[in-house]
Amino acid sequence: MDLELPIDGTKVEAICGSKLTNNCYLAKKRNHLSMSQSIRMLIFIVVFFCLTARWVSAADGYFNLSQTLRVDFVLVGNHSWQKGYLAGLSRYQGWSGSANQLISPFDFGEYRYLLISPETGDTLFRRGFSTLFEEWRTIDEAKEKERAFQQTIIIPAPLKPVLLQVDARDRDGSFTHLFQEVINPASLSIEVKQANNHPHKLIHGNDNPQQRFDLLFLAEGYTVDEQAQFYKDVSRLTNQLFEVEPFRSYKNHITIRALAVPSVQSGTDDPRAGIWRNTAMNSSFNTFGVDRYLETEATWQVFDYAMQLPHDHVVVLVNSNKYGGGGIYNHFSVVTSGNRYSGTVLIHELGHGFAGLGDEYFGADVSYNDYINLETEPWQPNLTTLVNFSQKWPHLLAPGTPVPTPVRPMYKNSTGVFEGGGYVSKGVYRPAINCRMRTSDAREFCEVCTSVIIQKIRFFTH
Ligand SMILES: [Zn+2]
Repeated sequence: MDLELPIDGTKVEAICGSKLTNNCYLAKKRNHLSMSQSIRMLIFIVVFFCLTARWVSAADGYFNLSQTLRVDFVLVGNHSWQKGYLAGLSRYQGWSGSANQLISPFDFGEYRYLLISPETGDTLFRRGFSTLFEEWRTIDEAKEKERAFQQTIIIPAPLKPVLLQVDARDRDGSFTHLFQEVINPASLSIEVKQANNHPHKLIHGNDNPQQRFDLLFLAEGYTVDEQAQFYKDVSRLTNQLFEVEPFRSYKNHITIRALAVPSVQSGTDDPRAGIWRNTAMNSSFNTFGVDRYLETEATWQVFDYAMQLPHDHVVVLVNSNKYGGGGIYNHFSVVTSGNRYSGTVLIHELGHGFAGLGDEYFGADVSYNDYINLETEPWQPNLTTLVNFSQKWPHLLAPGTPVPTPVRPMYKNSTGVFEGGGYVSKGVYRPAINCRMRTSDAREFCEVCTSVIIQKIRFFTH
């Protein structure tokens, strides 16, 4: 789900030159949303929050919202089974998430974690997330081997004992428990972590983390001497981010910080080129055998650095000119800084990592097998198998729009239900002919993706 999109200037041309010859409008710029689309989207967002916002009342007195409790665990298994084991608890100063909305209204992600009151059984906190491990489970290697992956989740520090429950989705989309742990905040086994003191810069916004969406860039593969270049790269990518809706309209809700973590060597691992570098977060191309897939498995290390500054989402910015990246929902995103597509890749990866959007492309080189179960409705908000489309974006379809919607010029700027997405050409449908979650040629996100990103920004800022 979380692989960055292939370079699609050529891909769109290839589509135009093949059996979709008449559909070359795929490569044209997508216009700004029409007035009626904007009104429909606004109504949906307001209704969504009225229906789903759960305020802090049930959790009153349960949390210290000026501290974070971090849970490190490992996910272990292969393609057919998985288990989770607690590896460590720690706490540190600061909580950058919303002080009001502790229970996420978003049912996104392959996993979720909940905090439950042992006294009343009330759910006090809930978040969905995805993992690199779950992606690995869908590749061929997982049929032959068992592996362990690091994972980290964060919660506001509890003041009373709470039950932590970590769940994973089954193939049918329902959740089963991976592990549970009673967290007693008085326990001496909870390490008090001290943040590092690396140089950093406020690139955009202000220092009011509980009312802003806080995006934190971590330098990866930048030496001490390359610190100025890192800040320049973050500023350039920030400018590119704010050229695209809905980030442009919501830039006053967003804070961007840059943390200059030093690496011993410059660059990143590029196994196919025989290049190996000693870097702060041990990132590498060729994840799961796909050259452009850039990730790091050193999750605990990433969060050791990130704790220094407020963050609702972390971007590991890798000092490389090569095309690549990756983004995993409520985990972190990774992108190179020096490629001419870096801004495009960043925006796409934030679609995955921050907003939980699925890839709307298909026919590209990926390692995943049967990533989406065609017999259930996927959790990705911008993909449907039509098993239960009423949960998705029917409210954004103009009256008379056929479902499925044929790929015809009359629908080029319309929200519809177009076949092909989630890495397969049949059985999975996407909301628009083109979108930032489909090709790098799409200037904007589609209407569905845009509305989800707005909902996510508002979640962190209200
Ligand atoms: Zn989209």
